[in-house]
Amino acid sequence: MNLKNLDKIIEKEPAFRKRQIEKLIYQDAIDNWDKATVLPLKLREELKKETSLDIKVEVYESKDTKKALITLEDDSQIETVFMKHYDRNTVCVSSQVGCALGCKFCATGKLGLKRNLETEEILEQVLVFKRKEKINNIVFMGMGEPFLNYDNVLKAIRILNSENAFNIGARHISISTVGITEGIEKLAEERLQVNLAISLHAPNNDLRQKLMPVSKKYSLENVLRAVNEYIKKTNRKVMFEYTLIDNVNDSLYNARELARIMKHPLYMINLIKYNDTKEFKAPSNEKIKKFKEYIERAGIPVTERYGFGGDIHAACGQLCLKKS
Ligand code: SAH
Ligand code: SF4
Repeated sequence: MNLKNLDKIIEKEPAFRKRQIEKLIYQDAIDNWDKATVLPLKLREELKKETSLDIKVEVYESKDTKKALITLEDDSQIETVFMKHYDRNTVCVSSQVGCALGCKFCATGKLGLKRNLETEEILEQVLVFKRKEKINNIVFMGMGEPFLNYDNVLKAIRILNSENAFNIGARHISISTVGITEGIEKLAEERLQVNLAISLHAPNNDLRQKLMPVSKKYSLENVLRAVNEYIKKTNRKVMFEYTLIDNVNDSLYNARELARIMKHPLYMINLIKYNDTKEFKAPSNEKIKKFKEYIERAGIPVTERYGFGGDIHAACGQLCLKKS
């Protein structure tokens, strides 16, 4: 897709055309300007010549998950995941090409960062699936760190949220961050009801710094301070993601440490069973159960994430452009 020349074309048109065209691209999700029959023929021809709605994509499917491998204008590639729940459909979008943060357990981290995604490139990932299915939920949990591409991510969220475009309620949009405090602080000022998720994965600074080098810059104390400020301003719940890795962060001692720092009425924990890589393995189900029970007994709301897409390398932390 290439909408770089769109503004130039719209500029010459009456104001209502901008809304009409936005609706065609994002709400009606047309894949070809010939379908834009509400527009005058001359304008349609110009749009066809100057912009492109084509998305270069390969899709891999499993039972309840699809993974799209999208090739962008500059030949960069990104991955996007579609998940079918019994009552809703979720798209998990990437915010960057690769990721600079190098978390030890994450396949995307091994790619390094190529560049930030443009707003249209974030939206195009949703369109790939919206052209065929209804989309109810968006999670910024694909490749990259959304708060290191803050402006483009927020612009995309406003269009996802807009009634004239995707019309997805802010409460159905989630952003996951390793805890970039500047991003958390800015989001608190946006007056948007989006969901914030923090990738925690370790209950103390020592372990967290080993797993997530970026946390040398953002200590647990500072991340939690920013989260608490965010909660004060927004009164929104915050989800902490904790990926359980065998013999790394899954002991009952770790559960106790975690319970101690998670005591806040608006904190929730989401446990993720690790998706195996060469370096690390998932704990046994028995161990996960015990860990979860400990947290529950400590009175902290805790859920377990359903593992979508492992068989097509589409699960959390597996997005690394591996053909499947
Ligand atoms: N960069 C952001 C957004 C990506 S979200 C962030 O890290 O929050 C992807 C989630 O999957 C993160 O919580 C990440 O820590 C987690 N993850 C990474 N590798 C994983 C793996 N192999 N198994 C399970 N979860 C993993
Ligand atoms: Fe980047 Fe998130 Fe993977 Fe860490 S877990 S390397 S921040 S994508």
